[in-house]
Amino acid sequence: MHQRPVSHALYQRLCEVIPGGVNSPVRACLGVNQTPIVAASASRDRVIDVDGKTYIDFCGSWGALIHGHAHPKILSAARKRMGMGTSFGMTTDIEEQLARKIVQLVPSVEKIRFVSSGTEATMSAARLARGYTGRDLIVKFIGNYHGHADFFLVQAGSGVAYLPRSSSAGVPEEVVKHTLCLPYNDTEMCRACLNHPDYSHRIAAVILEPIAGNMGVVPAQPDFIQMLREETQKIGALLIFDEVITGFRVALQGAQSLYKVIPDLTCFGKIIGGGFPAAAFGGKREIMDCLAPLGDVYQAGTLSGNPVAMEAGLQALNMLERKSFYAELERKTNMITKPVRESLVRKGAMACVQQCGSMFTVFFGKKAVNNMDDARQLDLEMFGRFFRFLFSKGIYIPPSQHEAWFVSSVHEESHLNKTRDCVLEFIETH
Ligand SMILES: *Cc1c(COP(=O)(O)O)cnc(C)c1O
Repeated sequence: MHQRPVSHALYQRLCEVIPGGVNSPVRACLGVNQTPIVAASASRDRVIDVDGKTYIDFCGSWGALIHGHAHPKILSAARKRMGMGTSFGMTTDIEEQLARKIVQLVPSVEKIRFVSSGTEATMSAARLARGYTGRDLIVKFIGNYHGHADFFLVQAGSGVAYLPRSSSAGVPEEVVKHTLCLPYNDTEMCRACLNHPDYSHRIAAVILEPIAGNMGVVPAQPDFIQMLREETQKIGALLIFDEVITGFRVALQGAQSLYKVIPDLTCFGKIIGGGFPAAAFGGKREIMDCLAPLGDVYQAGTLSGNPVAMEAGLQALNMLERKSFYAELERKTNMITKPVRESLVRKGAMACVQQCGSMFTVFFGKKAVNNMDDARQLDLEMFGRFFRFLFSKGIYIPPSQHEAWFVSSVHEESHLNKTRDCVLEFIETH
């Protein structure tokens, strides 16, 4: 008999009508060999599955839920807004409020446009960069994820030029030949590439996750980001920060405030919808005004700036402005990461914890992860065991070694302590 009979049966039925039983691949938990959770409900820091089992949640809808599940303030604001009509296809006051809030908080953002997913935000930012500069090439970094637009689905090809290959069926090589794929954190190699006479005048934009979350947590080296800012300016290309995870997660002004770098465009997602589908891209006024209807870069969306999502997002951002919010969040996160790090060092384990504020990854198989070459050498078998061990204790972490844990403002200390103890037990016994 399966341990979670209702989940198991429901998942089989889901698989009959939805490919892989999921609407986003990593949810299928294939890498960790586990029937996925079929979620029934959630509140604060816990999810309950359809079998009635409870899990302390460190996935937090992939970082979107910085205030945890079903926060009463967000719910009541969204309910009120829902009663006023859920979608208009017309512009609304709440869009101005959220836009102004973000413009006030993030100095690099003078104007912003809302979309419904991070994928749309990065795709539109890249189109805008191409339209603004009149150039075609987009530079991205190996191991960074920017959603699933065709030209971002690339991996490094062979050869010194880092010309990419498509990493998904259905993406023509014709499309990805306008993407250059470079090694993350390799300052000198990237500087040379950006200045290469074959490329420098053709590059529209360089896009990166300033603190990568999609190979596990891998912060960019400060000199790497500094170099990107200098070189893009020099060659007339835009610098785009994909802060879909890090925006409002690592600091109120995002990763760009930690690195003290002003990007030309920034992409947001996850947190800014307060748990509803919303994302955005914004930046310098002069660039943003190239968008239709003012300019000739087309970009649109039936549900863009959805008023319920905007209201939820505004409430979420308002709560981030509380004094010491981020310090408190980091203190909570350190309740796990500090003892775990110490234990790994004491044991001399081939593992490490990489962290930025309330996002972190416990990596197995390497003592440091700086780029995708390192990330490819991780011990996925050990991670699978780790995931299943925590799962059996009622703790849910993202089901992949190449993802981040997220701590919310409502994680209870008793749950953090329990999680710490379970992680330490795993380390002691493996
Ligand atoms: C999640 C994510 C995206 C894509 O956002 P979706 O809403 O899933 O389309 C883009 N960039 C980064 C850095 C992300 O983490």
